[in-house]
This record gives sequence, structure tokens and C-alpha cells, in this order.
Amino acid sequence: MKKGQKGFVTRSLHTPYPKKDAYNSLHMPVYDGVAFEFDSAEKIEEVFSGKVFEHAYSRTSNPTVEYFEHKIKAVTGGYAAVALASGMAAISNVLISLVENGGNVVASNHLFGHSYALLKETLPSLGIEVRFADMTDCGAVEKVTDDKTRVYFFETITNPQLEIVDIAKLSLIARKNNVVVVTDSTITPPYVFDSKQWGVDVEVMSTTKFISGGAAAFGGVVVDNGTFDWSKLPALQSWSSKFDKNALVVRIRKEIFRHLGATMTAHTAHFMNLGLDIMSLRVDRCVENCKALAEYFQNHPKVKSFSYPGVLSHENFELAEKLFSGKPGAVMTIDLESKEACFQFYNRLNLIRRATNLNDNKTLAIHPASTIYAEFSDEEKEEMGVRSTMIRLSVGIEDVADLIEDLNQALDF
Ligand SMILES: *Cc1c(COP(=O)(O)O)cnc(C)c1O
Repeated sequence: MKKGQKGFVTRSLHTPYPKKDAYNSLHMPVYDGVAFEFDSAEKIEEVFSGKVFEHAYSRTSNPTVEYFEHKIKAVTGGYAAVALASGMAAISNVLISLVENGGNVVASNHLFGHSYALLKETLPSLGIEVRFADMTDCGAVEKVTDDKTRVYFFETITNPQLEIVDIAKLSLIARKNNVVVVTDSTITPPYVFDSKQWGVDVEVMSTTKFISGGAAAFGGVVVDNGTFDWSKLPALQSWSSKFDKNALVVRIRKEIFRHLGATMTAHTAHFMNLGLDIMSLRVDRCVENCKALAEYFQNHPKVKSFSYPGVLSHENFELAEKLFSGKPGAVMTIDLESKEACFQFYNRLNLIRRATNLNDNKTLAIHPASTIYAEFSDEEKEEMGVRSTMIRLSVGIEDVADLIEDLNQALDF
């Protein structure tokens, strides 16, 4: 925390409304309307010509959503924020806004499955080339960077590999090559990760996960840290001459997002506003539970190995401590003897839920090799570090003794 700055939770709870509420409501109301009216032709002309900002139509902006954006700005210390319909909307909108036809993105080869598919299939169909690289290896990244490279894209902690990029090092290479650093920090939300401090220019998050308050609604957010000079990026040059530092958020809002229509609804923003206020309590509890489970797995004879970056045995423990204030999310993996053992364990779970998704309040388990990665060949799975002996756990906020009791009986086969 910077000197004189209020803490994360205080900032979230006490972010002022953009406008005084007509009824002095202490909780931001849900403005569930589509259109907003104006008093005069002159006023509506000013708004439509961009001279003044007022809400006109909720596909582009809405008071409840705007308040969520203000809260995100307040807690991240970012320069500007735009909320969207989902994490995928945030990622796709930001990449389409930053890269022109003919430009390229260098991306991690370990990405959330649908992000990988977006980069592998959809972006190339729009004329955006994507080069996959091992982002933990700065040399490999530099090797595939050229004068058409516009973005480095990676996740703060990859899943299920739980690999961590040395972001500060990577951002130095990005600076040198005039490349925008974009990170997906979904599993390490702003309470534990200060993206600006490590040289990230643009942060994207699926707010469906930690922020929504336990998988309550879909949402995404883009945070521009205000660190990149948009006049130096071909896709934003003309926007920058008109809107200067706001070039990225204005292009997203006034072109990409408005035209593709991936709007966050007022109801969703209501969930996000509630979820964000108490997120830190949930994250702390999840991390505490992860550490207790790591200790339990350490001593269990059926568990061949486990991985969680919050404990000393993890190869990136020190980097994780530095980047994520000792709270590196709540995803962990365990390896059992065989796929069959994984299935036996999985079928015996009583309390822990058999489901995909991450950072619900409930603990969830999945066998990635047979589900999320089912479409990939065995060689591809191996390359991606997805072993058939591995179970992924997204640890929730239950009483940890109950989790251990369930794991104990499920491992007793
Ligand atoms: C879930 C997830 C996404 C996609 O978010 P949605 O809200 O489901 O669209 C993107 N990145 C990561 C790391 C995720 O875990």
C-alpha cells in the first residue's frame, strides 16, 4: 500500500458514486433500464458528439456498471477501467483493440482453454497473427518478437500447470520492443496482485471467478494502467490523436465493445459490486485452506505429489511470494498413482464438487486430462503439462476440517 493511501477494502467500500443518488441510497441501486432521456436537443447533441459524458443507452454505459468500473479503478490504481459481459469478452475486445490487421501477438503456450482457442483460431481469421512461446523464458519470447509484435499476452499463474512468469523481466523486454504487456490476472485478483508495480500495461480479468462473490454471474473487466503511450501503437494512433491517454478505453467502448455488444448488465454489476467488497475475506480464507491442504497432502501416502505456489516446495515459491503478497490464488493440483486412481478418488468425493470453474466459494475438483483437455492428443497434453494422473482443486471457503475429512475418505480406496 502506498503511503497515505487507504487499504484495498476501504477503497472498495467507500468509492464515491459518480453522481449523488437521488434517494441517498447507501448501496448502489440497480439501474436496470436500457435508455436515458435528455432535457433538450442541445444536451443530447453534446452527449452524442462526445463533448460531455452522460449515459444514453445501456449497451455502451450504465450507472450501476459505471460504479463497478470506478471501484475497479479505485482498488487497482489503474488509469481507466471498462467492464464487459465476461472474461472472454474482456480478452477478445482488448486484443482486437490493440492489434491491427497484420500485427502479431506473442502469447504463452499455457493459457485458459478458450483464450487459447481465441488466439489460435479466431484472431488469425481477423488478420492478427499469434505466436505461442514459453513466456517463462525471456530469450524465447525475444526470439519470436519482431517489428510487427504489438502485445505480450500471458496469465499471472497458468492453470493447471501453476507456472509463473517473471513479469518484471518480461516487461523490460516489452519496453525495449515497444510491445504492450497484457496479463490475465483472473486467479490472482487485485487484492493480491498489483499489476502496475510489475510493469503490466493492461490487465484483464474474468470477474466471474473471485470478484463475483462465488460464481454468481459472468463478467469481465479491462484495466488500462496508463503506462503505454498509445500514439506509438498503430491500432490506436488515430484514437490517440483525438483521445490521448483514453485511446484504448474509448476505442473499446465506442467501437469494439459497442459493435460486438458484449455488455455487462446492471444486475451483473450489482453482483460484482457486492462481491468485490468482501473479496479479500474470501481470498484470505481460500489461501489459508490451500496451505492447510498442502500440509495434509504432503503427508498422505497416496498423494504422489502436489503443487501450490504458496508453499516452499513449489519451484516458483519465491517469485509467487514477491508478485502475489504471499497469496497466490486458490488453485492447486495433486497427482495420484494413475488415471484409474484419480477416477476412484473423484467418484468418492462427497463434499467437494465435481465441476469445472475456479474460485467458487465451494471447493471444486476436476480431472483436466479427461475433461477440459479431452480434445487434445496425448502428445499435446504432455507438452501442456496436463498429466492423466493429475486432479485440479479450486479451493473454497469451507471449514478446512470438513475438506480434509472428505479428502481422507475419498483417498481411502
Ligand atoms: C474463466 C477464465 C477466463 C474466461 O472467463 P469467463 O468469464 O468464463 O468468460 C479467462 N481466463 C482465465 C484465467 C479464466 O480462469
